Amino acid sequence: MKDKDNNDYDIVVIGAGFAGLTFAATMAQEGRRVAVLESHSLIGGCASYFKRKGFHFEVGATTLSGLAPGRTLWRLCKLLDLELPTNPLQIPMAITLNNKQVIKRHRDHSSFIKELNRVFPGHQHDFLWNKLRKWERDLWKSLFAAQNFPPKSFKDIRKLIRPSVLNKAHLGPLAFIPLVDKFSREMQEDQLLTEFFDEQLMISTQSSSKEVPTLLASMGMTYPEDMHYIYGGVTTFAQILRKKIESLGSEVHTRHKVITIEKQNSGFRLTCSRGSKETHLKAKIVVSSTPIWNTADLFADKEVKKKFLVKKESQKKGLSAVVANIAIKYREPIEILYHQVHYQNHSVLGKGSFFFSFSHPHDQKRAPEGHQAITVSTHTAPEVWQEAHDSGTYEELKSRVLADILERFKERFGAEHEIVFASLATPHTFEHYTQRFKGRVGGLSHNRENNILTFPSQETPIKNFYRIGDTTFPGQGIVGVATGALILAGKLSGKNFLE
Ligand SMILES: Cc1cc2nc3c(=O)[nH]c(=O)nc-3n(C[C@H](O)[C@H](O)[C@H](O)COP(=O)(O)OP(=O)(O)OC[C@H]3O[C@@H](n4cnc5c(N)ncnc54)[C@H](O)[C@@H]3O)c2cc1C
Repeated sequence: MKDKDNNDYDIVVIGAGFAGLTFAATMAQEGRRVAVLESHSLIGGCASYFKRKGFHFEVGATTLSGLAPGRTLWRLCKLLDLELPTNPLQIPMAITLNNKQVIKRHRDHSSFIKELNRVFPGHQHDFLWNKLRKWERDLWKSLFAAQNFPPKSFKDIRKLIRPSVLNKAHLGPLAFIPLVDKFSREMQEDQLLTEFFDEQLMISTQSSSKEVPTLLASMGMTYPEDMHYIYGGVTTFAQILRKKIESLGSEVHTRHKVITIEKQNSGFRLTCSRGSKETHLKAKIVVSSTPIWNTADLFADKEVKKKFLVKKESQKKGLSAVVANIAIKYREPIEILYHQVHYQNHSVLGKGSFFFSFSHPHDQKRAPEGHQAITVSTHTAPEVWQEAHDSGTYEELKSRVLADILERFKERFGAEHEIVFASLATPHTFEHYTQRFKGRVGGLSHNRENNILTFPSQETPIKNFYRIGDTTFPGQGIVGVATGALILAGKLSGKNFLE
């Protein structure tokens, strides 16, 4: 640590992903002395980056939303006086369906509805999407007002019975009804349309229209309307948060892996490994942003460990991702920066889609002029890679999947671009760099059992030990974890940073 004699903090935050950084910056602004401990040498977690051959590659998260006035990241920027170098995207995303038709997801709602009518004629798209947009707005409003589900204290109950929350009570059943029940019969029978919904939902909720509760689907389907490009990649935002934390006198320490937490009378004692060395810190409050599957490992005490074993069957599982990082010297720049490309049958990955994210052609922090850096991701079961590892076929599987992604890139975007770099990350890579159990990323799948009312709570059985991040309430993605961090920061400061 910088100051060896003063390793006693108001709050220690474990993990410098978006959850940890948002929480730490907000609490530092509130006058608390905070230390963020990050095991990796870089901050950002699943939204981090690496550099190779003059390119800046994003390792996981690439899209940024929640910047519209009143939304979480807009509020965060206002609260902390942050300026982000962003541009709203007019065509945030294009989706290539299995029949090769392309749907442009225009920011402008009526243009998007026209697109849906062109590709999937004969349905009442406007009717469904107007409802989705309204539910989404109402959900955020009630989330901002109520702050905690399920209520844990009298204070939480008082928040729930406020008129601003009660008048959104009609949303309650939508936390359980699957989206497919809101489709007309004709929509349910349109296989291509269902696939369109299912793949869009997969990237935001890790679920399908048959399983995802309508409320969460409303968030997952509408976020592209508020998508922005951030120059330098999403890490620019993480770096801005880090600077804010440090400018307020608090600290971010990379290469500090927390290996044990011990409860003491007046707080906690944490032991960190720094290479072969160990450091100790003390804190009144500890906030962990590691996934629920990692929490038990943080404690040495067997009885405490037991309290953090994940018991719900629906929360014992988790998906991971494979991510290809590709650099191209383009013939013509690719102007729509985010693409979802559906595939029918992949020999390793089954049925699904690849998500291609391109750096802006003029973003020279990401790639030299005339080039673009690309991140391609899709879901995968960590077990597939573990089996390959155990049977000695891991490297071969990696090469096969990467070669296949490069083929699909050429098929969709043209073979004329020169590929100057390509690499593949697997669940093992995520486990190595983020410590996440089995390399599970993206949070919990959203379904009847795991919904906004039943997500693991931020409060824990250990007083003054809290959890944030993408496997706790209210869930995943940069916006989700930032919302969770602001909710907890509000709770600990007696304020509401979201209203
Ligand atoms: C391939 C992929 C694509 C995605 N795309 C998007 C997207 O486009 N937009 C979007 O909004 N979201 C996206 N997401 C989801 C998003 O990245 C995550 O939900 C979010 O970044 C999680 O943030 P977090 O802070 O909860 O966790 P993490 O990012 O996992 O951060 C936790 C941090 O804790 C550190 N840590 C763990 N254990 C310890 C320890 N013992 N001691 C110290 N430090 C520790 C880790 O190294 C890590 O940095 C994507 C995720 C993936 C994997």
